[in-house]
Amino acid sequence: MNYQSTRSCSGAVTSAQAIAQGLCGDGGLFVPEAFPAVSAEELTKMESENYQQRAQRILAKYLTDFTEEEIRECVSLAYQPQCFPGGAAPVSTLRNGTCFLELWHGPTCAFKDMALQILPHLLTRSLKKINTGKKALILVATSGDTGKAALEGFQDVPETSIMVFYPKDGVSPMQERQMRTQEGNNVSVCAVEGNFDDTQTGVKLIFGDQKIQEHLAKKGLMFSSANSINWGRLLPQIVYYFSAYCDLCACGKIKRGEQVNFTVPTGNFGDILAAYYAKKMGLPVKKLICASNANNVLTDFLTTGVYSRNREFYTTISPSMDILISSNLERLLFDLTDRNAEQVAGWMRQLRETGEYKVDGNTLAKIRELFSAGFCGDDETREEIRSLYETNQYLCDPHTAVAARVYEKYRSKTGDDTQTVIVSTASPYKFAPEVLKALVKGSSSGDGFEAVRSLSGRTGTPVPVPIAALESKPVRFSFSCQKEKMSEAVLSLVDSKSV
Ligand SMILES: *Cc1c(COP(=O)(O)O)cnc(C)c1O
Repeated sequence: MNYQSTRSCSGAVTSAQAIAQGLCGDGGLFVPEAFPAVSAEELTKMESENYQQRAQRILAKYLTDFTEEEIRECVSLAYQPQCFPGGAAPVSTLRNGTCFLELWHGPTCAFKDMALQILPHLLTRSLKKINTGKKALILVATSGDTGKAALEGFQDVPETSIMVFYPKDGVSPMQERQMRTQEGNNVSVCAVEGNFDDTQTGVKLIFGDQKIQEHLAKKGLMFSSANSINWGRLLPQIVYYFSAYCDLCACGKIKRGEQVNFTVPTGNFGDILAAYYAKKMGLPVKKLICASNANNVLTDFLTTGVYSRNREFYTTISPSMDILISSNLERLLFDLTDRNAEQVAGWMRQLRETGEYKVDGNTLAKIRELFSAGFCGDDETREEIRSLYETNQYLCDPHTAVAARVYEKYRSKTGDDTQTVIVSTASPYKFAPEVLKALVKGSSSGDGFEAVRSLSGRTGTPVPVPIAALESKPVRFSFSCQKEKMSEAVLSLVDSKSV
């Protein structure tokens, strides 16, 4: 299996190369040259397997330059039961039959763990395979969740070190605390005096700085990235769609071969794209329902074919979906245009130059066949959190609530009663102050930990261990730097003994 760019047909590479490199040289994203099939027979066999075994199967179909043993190591290091105490991706069914695929039982209580727990292991093995002889220094710019998940994933992984930059006043107090208390001998965290854009621009400049790269090379290091367009982050996400389907078959909720819908709270389009890839591999999926918050650029695109980022940006209570450019959409377009790299490159150029593009009628027709899309605002999100709890005693976070509300709208509009799985992307405790406010109107919760305790007291649900443990953990990192000084922060880390 080889991988090519979404923007040109030349220069196919192995999966190790694609994972080590992250982004293609032409600015495109790596995509597999084909989608390996999972037969109905194989799907039945997977019903009796655990999550690691299911992951092993799916990954092996794509990572053909890895040995079975290597994949087994990666999978078992990533999805250890002690890291995912509630199971890696359990399906929770309400009394009214609604299913939630809970992807937040990992160490940072958000679905990014599903990919970032395994990426470091895939990456270190990929670097060995392409024979760089160098250790990886991972740089991350984060607006919150990704930084912590990456720190946890790379913590004490041999041959790697990681440095995370976050905007000083741009993350929640809980997120900041999660990062500043991070354990591990190869991790480093730095606040930037600026906003998220400044932080991201700073990291991009460092990646592109020849002088810094030469300095790193002398020390036996090279930069690498853990961002969401890396194939090594997307691939592990395909697994849980298969896993959910197998669990539903195994418990008799659906018959073998029966179609299901997935509703996915969407930002960068990675999670829902993985569901589309699962469908391409043969998973019986009917509709993919794309749920957005007030930043509804995808709702508009998937219904009209016009993608326009020229619109107001809203800060919402589901911040991980506050996004106007959904990078992974490019991979979908590549597939729907029958791998027309020139066409995709053209649309991406228009997006860069004018902030918008419009796909042709044929592509739009395919999109509308596969996807349905909707959005809801903060008030509806709060209402949904409350009603799910009051009616079904199911406590969910704001991102999951957006998906649940959009699904209800879809169902009443279409009358489609196909069994649907709502993807649940974060623990409610990760957003405790907002969730508490939704349940108890007018409640004000002081600091994050007070809200956590109050939420647990009111609902009788347990606080996830990683969040409970946070309050007593010592702060290890309290550095901050000006946005112009980020490269100096990296160099001083490189010159210290800690990498
Ligand atoms: C990142 C994130 C999302 C969005 O996922 P994409 O793959 O970017 O579409 C949704 N919910 C939560 C909690 C997230 O952290």
